[in-house]
Amino acid sequence: MPKSPLTVAYFTMEIGLESRMPTFAGGLGMLAADIMRSAADTGVIAACISMCWQHGYMRQTIHSNGTQKYEPVSWSPSQFLRKADERITVQCEGRAVQVGAWIYELKGALATVPVIFLDTDLPENAPEDRQITSHLYGGDGAMRLKQEIVLGIGGVKMLRAMGYSDIAKFHMNEGHAAFLTLELLRERNWNNDDVKRSCAFTTHTPVAAGHDVFDYDLAYRVAGDQLPWHIREIAGKDRLSMTELAIRLSRYTCGVSQVHGEVSRRMFPWAQIDAITNGVHHVHWTAPEFQNLYDSYIHGWRESPQLLAEKCRELPDDQLWKMHQLAKDRLISHANQFTDVPLDPHCLTIASARRVVSYKRPELLYTNLERLAEVCQGKVQIIHAGNAHPQDPFGQGVIQRMIERSRKIRDSVRIVYVPNYNPDLAQLLTAGADVWLNTPTRLHEASGTSGMKACVNGVLNFSTLDGWWIEAFARDPEAGWRIGPLASALPNAEETTQVDAEDLYTQLQYELIPEFEYKDHVRWIRRMKRSIGLIGFFNTHRCVGEYGKKAWTNEQ
Ligand SMILES: *Cc1c(COP(=O)(O)O)cnc(C)c1O
Repeated sequence: MPKSPLTVAYFTMEIGLESRMPTFAGGLGMLAADIMRSAADTGVIAACISMCWQHGYMRQTIHSNGTQKYEPVSWSPSQFLRKADERITVQCEGRAVQVGAWIYELKGALATVPVIFLDTDLPENAPEDRQITSHLYGGDGAMRLKQEIVLGIGGVKMLRAMGYSDIAKFHMNEGHAAFLTLELLRERNWNNDDVKRSCAFTTHTPVAAGHDVFDYDLAYRVAGDQLPWHIREIAGKDRLSMTELAIRLSRYTCGVSQVHGEVSRRMFPWAQIDAITNGVHHVHWTAPEFQNLYDSYIHGWRESPQLLAEKCRELPDDQLWKMHQLAKDRLISHANQFTDVPLDPHCLTIASARRVVSYKRPELLYTNLERLAEVCQGKVQIIHAGNAHPQDPFGQGVIQRMIERSRKIRDSVRIVYVPNYNPDLAQLLTAGADVWLNTPTRLHEASGTSGMKACVNGVLNFSTLDGWWIEAFARDPEAGWRIGPLASALPNAEETTQVDAEDLYTQLQYELIPEFEYKDHVRWIRRMKRSIGLIGFFNTHRCVGEYGKKAWTNEQ
């Protein structure tokens, strides 16, 4: 059936729409979902292409000795999605692979965005090809290539089969989707400039190892003549770089924060790279208590999140604190299921939750256990969450070590490690904590979005200056706290850990604890309003507006 023209077709390897649909791994998928929610709310005519992963994010359970188990979340697409009739084929290792699709109707205030999930788990396919949409980011280079062929080439073909003949822009959310340019090249007689006019690209990875690169031998074996004759001109001379392909065939490329834009320009000095700082879908991440509060005092905040910046000061202190305490009580009763030393709903509560990878420095807080115990002395409690990759013994060891260390100081500071970090738990944590702690190695966090989810619920960020927090802290240094100096003022790596840890303890002792305890929390509440105010900017309605002006247009 012919469809009306699309402003943008947004391609993403993962998307996190619901906790029970494990088609995501982390922040990239959460961002894709928020961008699509805002597109639907602001009336952008869009479609989203992703993959119907059987196994993406895994359910984590933690044994009392700190070891973890990761189990696939079993789900069946038909519970959540409508099956599409269309079928297309792509070529993998010389075989024709059939690709089917499932559709999720993402309904917003002004438009509905169909999210199309591609699926190769069809009886007609060879067993190995049925596995292509089995494990998100699992498998070897050949498997990764097949997955990227299905997403990029298969995605364009599927859109055409569904009747989308008029698509103004193809957006690549990370380099995984760059093969869409190959199908567009074929459609347009291998005219690079023609393709370029239709493409936009967002890069998300500030470290070289995070970019997909393939040997040409392997790429030819898997993709065959789907690679055009001039592939080495557009994707790299010696190896096939998905990022390079995406940049060279896009009219517009951006990073996801101002600092990440700078880092990306240094990585690809020949390219023009702009920046559009990430945001969150402000309504989605606002706890129900706070939604009611904003409905009463900030009319129009759902459609116009910038009102949160203009009107946050008008929220009544007592109401704000009451709603915060309700969200905090909910978090604490959830966390208390996982500890035999129950948390206190009136104690200063720091939450620190993220995917456990070394650049996020989850152990920074435990650099000096004695000092931490001395500073906290019953005045602070800590909630951790975060999954390691099931095949990552290092990350699993980190979690185990954190749990062991926290036991040693349990008389001074209550610490709970809550299992199974997923969007539902993220919602509880970012609404119910007092402080959101984030300590990435500088220049390694492209943006980060969990801290924004905290802001929208009046939770205060306490973070190293990286990604979005550099910009947020510059906008309003009263909205939270920074840990340590900017990257440019840093000593060497080892000293950095000491400097950051010491600054963390000192501020906790002399700023955070006294301010929290100051009469009726008045100073704290003033900061909470400023934290809410930051969402006037760090929201995906604004991102989508910027994408519309810069990426999904032919002007500029
Ligand atoms: C928001 C979110 C993320 C991304 O957060 P970071 O700021 O990048 O740590 C990852 N996982 C889940 C479940 C989230 O909700």
